[in-house]
Amino acid sequence: MSKRFLVTGGAGFIGSAVARMLVRETPHQVLVVDKLTYAGNLDSLKPVANSPRYRFEQADVADLDRMRALVEAYEPDVVMHLAAESHVDRSIDGPGEFVQTNVVGTFALLQAALGYWRGLSPERQAAFRFHHISTDEVFGSLGEEGFFHEEYPYQPTSPYSASKAASDHFVRAWHHTYGLPTVVTNCSNNYGPYHFPEKLIPLIILNALEGKPLPVYGKGENVRDWLFVDDHARALILAAECGEPGATYAIGGHNERKNIDVVRGICALIDELAPNAAIGPREALISFVTDRPGHDLRYAIDASKIERELGWRPAETFETGLRKTVEWYLENRDWWERVRSGVYRGERLGIVA
Ligand code: NAD
Repeated sequence: MSKRFLVTGGAGFIGSAVARMLVRETPHQVLVVDKLTYAGNLDSLKPVANSPRYRFEQADVADLDRMRALVEAYEPDVVMHLAAESHVDRSIDGPGEFVQTNVVGTFALLQAALGYWRGLSPERQAAFRFHHISTDEVFGSLGEEGFFHEEYPYQPTSPYSASKAASDHFVRAWHHTYGLPTVVTNCSNNYGPYHFPEKLIPLIILNALEGKPLPVYGKGENVRDWLFVDDHARALILAAECGEPGATYAIGGHNERKNIDVVRGICALIDELAPNAAIGPREALISFVTDRPGHDLRYAIDASKIERELGWRPAETFETGLRKTVEWYLENRDWWERVRSGVYRGERLGIVA
């Protein structure tokens, strides 16, 4: 049966993967709502832009009147909320935007959804979902051992993770207080095609291609649990459609890697797929730079609940996903050259003076 999905942040990295997957692999309709900040890019939606099941509205999620009007007019069965300020380094330089979009924006969308949901028939009320997409960074940092899971206590450490933690609490409160059928997912670091090149993996790919220094924070010892973006998008659509009201699902890739090993893996792939005698082996370009203030040591996810209850498993290993990602950047120079010619030119952000 075709449902109506309203996807906020759908011009961003993960949101556009969700929108493309909904149009290509499901019978559902999609309305993307996005403010088109520096991180939003309609080029990422071009592959589905001509579909009659796709629509786009430029709007700020923190604009309550606009959210009310959009939700009432579109009558969604599912709201998937991905719109956010998402880059930790930017949150260190300018936390205000993070509070505005991630906290006030989530509040506005909850209010708009609640008003609409109260007017639905009991059957449509029961089927409706408000799915909030969050991060494992809300849990703080792990030591060498252990995993984050659905019951793990919140201990956010950066302005970004604090704003996401606050928004998670608002979403759960709207379920407990008003009965809104919400689902929260907390996912580990994503990578893949259409990733804005300020984040580690695309930054390293593009710098390696161009023979520029490859900046690694601190000693590169920080560990992240990497998940290929299409595996995340599939988990999100499953959670939005089949998740229990009020439930939380932790999503991860079973792919813990130290940053330095991620960077070395990219160097080997670029040397293989785009050899360049003038540049030489890319590992020689690695340059250790001052660490991010308050850099969390390790994130890792126990994703057994979503595997058990919803039957989700990632299709890609880190090796297969990284190869696909490097190949995509080699084949889609137009996309990243346009992004790089815009507001962001690869400069270092998030150093506390
Ligand atoms: P992104 O920065 O690539 O995209 C964010 C999108 O939100 C952009 O299109 C931007 O234009 C839009 N946006 C920003 N402010 C807005 C506003 N006020 N109103 C409407 N739209 C606005 O982010 P992403 O990496 O795709 O992350 C999407 C979501 O997933 C975020 O909520 C993030 O916290 C979460 N998440 C990301 C990761 C990751 O590794 N990237 C991991 C776990 C969870």
